[in-house]
Amino acid sequence: MKKMHIRISVLVIACFFYFQTFRLSDLQTNIKRMKRILPILFLIPVIASAQRDWSTATISTTKVSSGIYRLFVDNRVAVVAFIGTDGVLLVDAAYEQTASLLKQSITKLTDQPLRYLVNTHIHGDHTGGNLGLGSGVDIISHHQVKNFLGTERRQGERIIPAFPEYALPNITFSDELNIVFNGEPVIMKHLPEGHTNSDIIVYFPDSKVLVVGDLLFADNFPYVDTGNGGHPLGYLKNVEWITNQYPDDVTIIGGHGPVYTISQYKDYLQTLLNTAEIVKTAKQNGMNADQMKTNRILQQWESMGSFFITEDRWIDTLYPYM
Ligand SMILES: [Zn+2]
Repeated sequence: MKKMHIRISVLVIACFFYFQTFRLSDLQTNIKRMKRILPILFLIPVIASAQRDWSTATISTTKVSSGIYRLFVDNRVAVVAFIGTDGVLLVDAAYEQTASLLKQSITKLTDQPLRYLVNTHIHGDHTGGNLGLGSGVDIISHHQVKNFLGTERRQGERIIPAFPEYALPNITFSDELNIVFNGEPVIMKHLPEGHTNSDIIVYFPDSKVLVVGDLLFADNFPYVDTGNGGHPLGYLKNVEWITNQYPDDVTIIGGHGPVYTISQYKDYLQTLLNTAEIVKTAKQNGMNADQMKTNRILQQWESMGSFFITEDRWIDTLYPYM
């Protein structure tokens, strides 16, 4: 708690100095800048989540189709459970801290054992739960997930140790992997250079359910992890490929936000394409990223910046690639 106070105090002081740099004579600019700093203030819960009391975390369970459930962990990240006579297959594992809660939620649905755990990509809100759920379970992913989790790395000032063997994927692939589980095909496909370079999508053709991981931040601008092989144009290309590939009545489950129909996913793609076009045109007209932010060129989509990637961060994401 003390640490949290110190963190918030530091943030308040940082905000104070930020505002101190404003020239009081330029009130309009100040108001614009204050509007821009608001999303930073919304990031406090994100920063605080590292320190949060996980005992208050919740999981809400929704039935998507016969045998397929969406477990929405902490109102932030989606896990999909496929349950049948062979046991349970999970797509994504959420956080390490919510793994036991996830286990309890699955126990409420079935007494069948967890057999497979699929990681859609490297990030900790999708793989952290491997540490609490992975023992004695086959973990499937793109091979880059195993490389990433199996290597000690630095995150800011923290050293993140390599995952122990039991929590690492033991079944990996490069392009596509198909299995039959609970009497149904499960089709896993790698799409390169999108959200990261380790993204896979998981399709249940009999149920017409498609899990796309973080290739969908429903109703929000997406995060593109360019430091780990992601690319904003690749992201758009992959989303476009998905919308052309699967049937019109498929249910799309993304890593964050509500479940989509394919027509909503097409609208999402169109919105992202429109924002990219606006940034591209502004750049061709000589604007730099800061000017685009000051002029709020994506203001029309303000509501899409409320989760993680703000309007400004989406401009920063697109700008170098336009
Ligand atoms: Zn992610």
